[in-house]
Amino acid sequence: MSVLPSSFETLIDKFAALPGVGRKSAQRLAFFVISMTDETAQSFADAITDAKRTIRECAVCCNLSEDEVCPVCSNTRRNPRIVCVVSDPKGVLAIERAREFGGVYHVLHGTISPLSGVTPDDLRIRELVARVADGGCDEVILATNPDTEGETTARYIARLIEPFGVRTTRLAYGIPVGSSLEFADDATLTRALEGRSEYN
Ligand SMILES: [Zn+2]
Repeated sequence: MSVLPSSFETLIDKFAALPGVGRKSAQRLAFFVISMTDETAQSFADAITDAKRTIRECAVCCNLSEDEVCPVCSNTRRNPRIVCVVSDPKGVLAIERAREFGGVYHVLHGTISPLSGVTPDDLRIRELVARVADGGCDEVILATNPDTEGETTARYIARLIEPFGVRTTRLAYGIPVGSSLEFADDATLTRALEGRSEYN
């Protein structure tokens, strides 16, 4: 029998279920939460429920958004016909940080990974193909990470959109193979965008 109250064990379990959090860290976080004032603990809980309630996926690019259409997609100064495809919202943040890109995005929410059981149907690939099929794009830039899963995903998408005859490019990575977009510095990302090459 545990010496800790069951509600406390539940809190530990919730933290331990988060990515990258082990049992020991989960215990530390749970003890920290219990030491909070009632007010701080409530605002912490509110932040989780508020984010969950208000954040959805942009109807166009599938990035996280509080509105039906996200600020990037609704920005008339951006070119909606150049679509940069990234694995997750962190990819958007990385490319926006470099302040070089004037197009729009498509967020897949993952990469194809047979080992982890992630299939194309789990990603927003259907939504991307629909955007291309609608004739809304002149260029699709495949900016998934330069690792095995990112490359598999890029190849899969390139094959799917090939029949539509849209220009398909891949970032010219100065980023080491196996690395991730979010860790590339701004200059590397700028070069990767400028030096992008035809992919099919
Ligand atoms: Zn959007």
